[in-house]
Order: sequence, then structure tokens, then C-alpha cells
Amino acid sequence: MHLNYIDNYKSIIEIINEHKKVNNRDIRLIVVSKTQDYTKIIELEKLGQRDFGENYLDEAREKIIKINNPNIIWHYIGSIQSNKIKKISENFSWIHTVSSEKHAHKINNVCSKLDKVMNICVQINIDNEETKGGVNIEEYNNLSLIVRNMKNIRLRGIMAIPKVSQSSVESFAKMKDLYDRHQYLDTLSMGMSKDYISAIEYNANMLRIGQQIFGKRT
Ligand SMILES: *Cc1c(COP(=O)(O)O)cnc(C)c1O
Repeated sequence: MHLNYIDNYKSIIEIINEHKKVNNRDIRLIVVSKTQDYTKIIELEKLGQRDFGENYLDEAREKIIKINNPNIIWHYIGSIQSNKIKKISENFSWIHTVSSEKHAHKINNVCSKLDKVMNICVQINIDNEETKGGVNIEEYNNLSLIVRNMKNIRLRGIMAIPKVSQSSVESFAKMKDLYDRHQYLDTLSMGMSKDYISAIEYNANMLRIGQQIFGKRT
């Protein structure tokens, strides 16, 4: 791991650009900036980075206000609590962790009042872990049908965080399969610091990377 987040960032961009060239497809990088100082976000934005991911609402709001840059696209990638949906919807353009009809309804209602259309991913609990958020693959159809009828939500994709203790490859293969069966989706959000290379091989087109850029989170 290099010490300089700018160099680390540039190396990842190089890898992504190489894949884009070879495979002729777009891959979007979300820089996961949770726990990082807002000045680093400002520096990366200067290099052309637009997408940033945050997990904690209060921390994120503070940075969003301080940075105050309309070019930045903020992605909410933390778990959703019902009572925070209003503030999440006000501050973010994407929510990656939708996994219940109840939350979807609330996002839709809030966004209707805000006169805004929220980009969402349905989170898939790809390895059926007790402790993890998301719906099972079998539950996806039902939730997606409901969400696609909501006027102030645009269902863009599916997102997953594979089980930590095993290789992510099988999980990515299942995600790719689910993604390929739904032509209306345009976003396959998977791949983090330790597994983004294999995520790219399974057609991920949105990566969420933190530690590989900023160093280990403590
Ligand atoms: C923290 C987080 C990431 C980034 O993980 P790194 O190991 O820092 O790359 C990606 N996605 C989600 C949902 C996260 O919570």
C-alpha cells in the first residue's frame, strides 16, 4: 500500500481506463470517503473525480456542506434507518442500499416533496448472511416490480457486499447473472478494495473503493 492517496487513486484510474479500452465499456469509480477528511475529497475532485460514497449521514452532511460543490455526486452506501431517510434524500443523489418496500415508499414520498428523482440500487444479500442487509435473489423480483412503479425513484442497479471470509468470485458471478436477466438496469455496483479486479472481470460497472486509495481505516 502506497502512502499517498493521490498516487493510489491514479493507479486505480489507470487500471480502469485500461479495461475500458480493452473491453470498450464504461466503469464508474465511487471513491468511498467515509472517515476521511473533506480536504482529500476536494483534492480528488480537482483531478476529475465526481462520485463519492459515504456511510454515515451526519459525517457526510458536514462534508457536503463544507465542500459545497455541485459537480460532486454523493452516493449513500450505508445502511438505511427509516428516521434518516428524509435527510439522506436531501443530501444524496444515489442510495445503494435499498432493501425494503417500506424504505422505498418513504424515499419516494420524501423525493416527491423535494421534487427530485432518486437513483437507487437494490442491495442484494448475495451470500445470505444473517448479519447483512439486502434482499435475497428470490426477493428481488417482487421488490423491483414495486419500486419501478414509483415516480420519484429510478431503479438503476443492484449492489452487493460479498462475504468477507471467502473469495468474492462466486458472489460476483451470481450478481452478474441477476444483472444480465434485467435489461432495464444499467448499474452493477460491486467490487471494493480487496476484490475490485475480479469484480471488473464479472462486468461490474460501478466500483466502491476506499482503503485501496486512502490506506487502512482504523
Ligand atoms: C466501506 C464500504 C466500501 C469501501 O470498502 P473499502 O474496503 O474501503 O474499499 C464499499 N462499499 C460499502 C457499502 C462500504 O460500506
